[in-house]
Amino acid sequence: MHNAILVLNAGSSSIKFSLFVARDHELDLDCRGQIEGIYTAPRFSAKDAAGKRLSERSWGEGTKLGHDGALAHLLEFLHGELAEYRLVGVGHRVVHGALEYTQPVRVDQEIVAKLAKLIPLAPLHQPHNLAPIRTLLERMPDLPQVATFDTSFHRTNPPLAQRFAIPVELHDAGIQRYGFHGLSYEYVASVLPQYDARAAAGKAIVLHLGNGASMCAFEASRSVASTMGFTALEGLMMGTRSGAIDPGVLIYLMDERGMDARAIEKLLYNQSGLLGVSGVSSDMRALLASDEPRARLAVDLYLYRIRREMGSLAGALGGVDAIVFTAGIGENSAAIRERVLADAAWLGVRPNKAANAKGGPRISAATSRVSAWAIPTNEELMIARHTRRILGV
Ligand code: AMP
Repeated sequence: MHNAILVLNAGSSSIKFSLFVARDHELDLDCRGQIEGIYTAPRFSAKDAAGKRLSERSWGEGTKLGHDGALAHLLEFLHGELAEYRLVGVGHRVVHGALEYTQPVRVDQEIVAKLAKLIPLAPLHQPHNLAPIRTLLERMPDLPQVATFDTSFHRTNPPLAQRFAIPVELHDAGIQRYGFHGLSYEYVASVLPQYDARAAAGKAIVLHLGNGASMCAFEASRSVASTMGFTALEGLMMGTRSGAIDPGVLIYLMDERGMDARAIEKLLYNQSGLLGVSGVSSDMRALLASDEPRARLAVDLYLYRIRREMGSLAGALGGVDAIVFTAGIGENSAAIRERVLADAAWLGVRPNKAANAKGGPRISAATSRVSAWAIPTNEELMIARHTRRILGV
């Protein structure tokens, strides 16, 4: 009987899962899926590795399954799937590991308590990430669990890249640049040598363009700078997040609009970005298909912000050998990639339009000094690999 590893990615309204089976040195996907709308109108769906539907269920509007109820349903579904395998561990995505967790770690009650202390650093993600860990520790105490962190990959950033220009005492209290999307970047770093050995050994700028978005500068496949900072709000414009904003705006909103921290949090995390500027949608597909001038404005601003950050990261690196696109928009939108590469022509990148239209992986011309790639990310596989390694299974 083969060993299996369950990967969980729990957010505020959904739990995503993937089940991997360990065969020799490989981890093969068995099935994946999610329960969405867990506090509003839950919907469960699971597919096998080939994308064939395995199971589906909807609960009525107003049903509050919550994280516990969603996890219970998921475990019930997996009971059938796991008849053929032995579940040896669960790997979790945890957004914040702060300074202490530079590597994935096997969790127990004590570590969960320490991770809960980081909730103020990521109030919209961390509590939900920890919810299924707590439940499983209580209900299945013998099942080993591993926490993997979105911040760990960036701990290789040089000290200057981690510092804000604020009094040292605040820096020492943990108000620093951490960076996020680390599991995605780590996966890209792990496969980059297969695509471009020169880029893997040299300087690359990787764009994780999904619903959340960031860019990371790689030197020899290690993170040396990121557009994200203390929180996942910093940097690029995102689906509903503002990205970088003059901190003076926040003071102004407090003084002149009477907004408190919660109101500003809602504004910057949920009502800004592509959604806020377009007034139409946070979904890039909808904006690219829309004739609304504000939809075009949102896409133009999204690209302008990338253009600016490209210069910033190129400056941090002192040169660029490769540009890599990943995540929902980066992997699927030839139109966005084409415009980003046109904006980055000054760096010496020449696109191959036909290859880009087909989705790559190589999307730069043979003569391009800087290579460009579209490489699918796989955060779940990265989590499963870590979990297997930490547990030695
Ligand atoms: P992710 O968070 O990585 O799942 O990415 C989600 C984002 O990818 C959403 O904003 C989608 O609009 C976007 N996306 C997915 N497919 C496409 C596509 N073909 N063109 C543009 N955007 C896409």
